[in-house]
Amino acid sequence: MDFEKYYALTEEIKRKGARLVAVSKTKPPEEILQLYERGQKIFGENKVQELAQKYEQLPKDIDWHLIGHLQTNKVKYIIPFVSLIHSVDSLKLLEEIDKQAAKQERTIDCLLQIYIADEETKFGLSQIEAEDLLRSPQFCSLAHIRVCGLMGIATNTEDAEQIRREFQDLKSFFEKLKQTYFSDKSFFRELSMGMSADYKIALAEGATLIRVGSMLFGERQYH
Ligand SMILES: *Cc1c(COP(=O)(O)O)cnc(C)c1O
Repeated sequence: MDFEKYYALTEEIKRKGARLVAVSKTKPPEEILQLYERGQKIFGENKVQELAQKYEQLPKDIDWHLIGHLQTNKVKYIIPFVSLIHSVDSLKLLEEIDKQAAKQERTIDCLLQIYIADEETKFGLSQIEAEDLLRSPQFCSLAHIRVCGLMGIATNTEDAEQIRREFQDLKSFFEKLKQTYFSDKSFFRELSMGMSADYKIALAEGATLIRVGSMLFGERQYH
């Protein structure tokens, strides 16, 4: 692992007032611990089972973020400990999170994942769907979740201007929602965007959470 890169990255992010989610998926606990010992407290995983295992094995003051798609039948496994779910993409999922959170007497912080890329990807809400969700009576009755902001994944392209436009769109949608639905809610303040390849653009466009994996841990190997 490249600790010089880690320190430089954390400095760059701090200067912008944002926070780093170190994406540790596929990486062993020992490597996570090395970064933890250098001060990293937020780690992101994209699979429920891997997240739950790592939670068991690692220090309990780590903030664990789920950044990948979440199936409703797996929600219960992470509710006892997860600190932020970036990938909420339906009302049904939000209702299940609320139900499980109530059982554990917790309130779970969530982001709505908004579809911003020019790609056939499976997950994320359109802007219209997100507003329908926020306006629904079902949403208004959920007492054990807090929607703290939005998450987006830009198109995987070399075209930096396209990526910038996608992040700008997400940021303006965030501002619109803040004004319309969350004007008195100071917790609605997170914009999760930017990965290893495009985090600089994301920072420039107002990201508050950057999700960086391979740049820190090296390329992932899938078996
Ligand atoms: C894997 C992943 C990341 C990190 O990607 P890198 O290119 O390794 O930085 C960020 N966000 C999500 C949703 C991911 O699944």
